[in-house]
Amino acid sequence: MAAHTLDIEKIRKDFPILQREVNGKPLVYFDNAATSQTPKQVIDVIVDYYENYNANIHRGVHALSQEATDLYEQARIKIQKHCNAAKAHEIILTSGTTHGINIVANGFSSLLKKGDEIVVSAMEHHSNIVPWQMLCERTGAVLKVIPMNENGELRLDAYDALLSNKTKLVFCNHVSNALGTVNPIKVIIDKAHAIGAAVLIDGAQAAPHIKANVQELNVDFYVISGHKVCGPTGIGMLYGKEEWLEKLPPYQGGGEMIAEVTFEKTTYAGLPHKFEAGTPNIAGGIAFGAAIDYMNALGFDDIAAYEQELLQYATEKLIAIPNLKIYGNAASKTAVISFNIEGLHPYDIGSILDKLGVAVRTGHHCAQPIMDFYKIPGTVRASFSFYNTKEEVDVLVSAVLRAKAMLS
Ligand SMILES: *Cc1c(COP(=O)(O)O)cnc(C)c1O
Repeated sequence: MAAHTLDIEKIRKDFPILQREVNGKPLVYFDNAATSQTPKQVIDVIVDYYENYNANIHRGVHALSQEATDLYEQARIKIQKHCNAAKAHEIILTSGTTHGINIVANGFSSLLKKGDEIVVSAMEHHSNIVPWQMLCERTGAVLKVIPMNENGELRLDAYDALLSNKTKLVFCNHVSNALGTVNPIKVIIDKAHAIGAAVLIDGAQAAPHIKANVQELNVDFYVISGHKVCGPTGIGMLYGKEEWLEKLPPYQGGGEMIAEVTFEKTTYAGLPHKFEAGTPNIAGGIAFGAAIDYMNALGFDDIAAYEQELLQYATEKLIAIPNLKIYGNAASKTAVISFNIEGLHPYDIGSILDKLGVAVRTGHHCAQPIMDFYKIPGTVRASFSFYNTKEEVDVLVSAVLRAKAMLS
């Protein structure tokens, strides 16, 4: 992979939180797969909104409302360009990945019948499992699971065998949040389309590392969360092909999503407003656009190249620790390392790391089926971002060694 050209020391100055201490130690933030940190450029946009043009959008004739509306709609266009959607109204602004998935799952209630089949992968986040189980309960459709192998890769031979003319929908994440596996989504999408099934890709974990091109992928739905790409919480994107979004019924009723309301009958607004009932997270939407700008200015190729360097460095150092096992060794993975040390509980390791200023995630990472597959209660997960450094990896490694010595 090509060398990156990022100035990491300069980038770190954009993130005020990276200057703080935790338990008297400099913060080493390795929980990026749960949420990313926010640069000053994005924080400033939120402050600017509340200081200068806080107003409700799409309905006011007054200047503030129009300014806020313009900025919110400009953010939608930034997000559209970022993922190369054909039309701005194919971008639905949601509260996050979970919300986007629920819009689609709910919409399909009226399109599925008993005996139809839905295919999901074995390495999904709970938010890409539970809404489909609820959909199955409502419709009598059946959930089928693409199994994975020991390395944490999906078994495409088994996927082929699951597809049939009963398959109506396929759901898969682009990148596994628990293992870092980058799934071959283009193959998954093409195979599903060949038998007439629609595909939703959960891009929450891919978005910080990979710039997805929805037209090139020819995906039907793609969902992401703002807070994993340096934006605020409570905002996200559901991309849907126009023809699908037209076909699906609205998820929530309320203001903003209507064309006309009488007590006899209500007609719905056109896209994207049909799926955006109520006052949205206006500052969040504008800041989401600013976060996308920030990351694009760094460049996704450079981000990926640098993160792969960190991944390789950290993997080599960690596997040198006796009795440490890494879960998820896919040929293609993002900068996520899930591991355990034989005989030690992940929670105990995580607690000691926290005392030493190192923030990692412990537990099942909202992906219990993966933990069941490996027959473990959970893992310690260190996930890296472009603002992390090799020196911080060294701190992690010595903290893990310290935890091991204390707990063994
Ligand atoms: C974080 C994550 C989600 C859930 O995102 P929310 O922002 O909590 O809605 C879903 N899928 C994957 C793969 C994730 O990493």
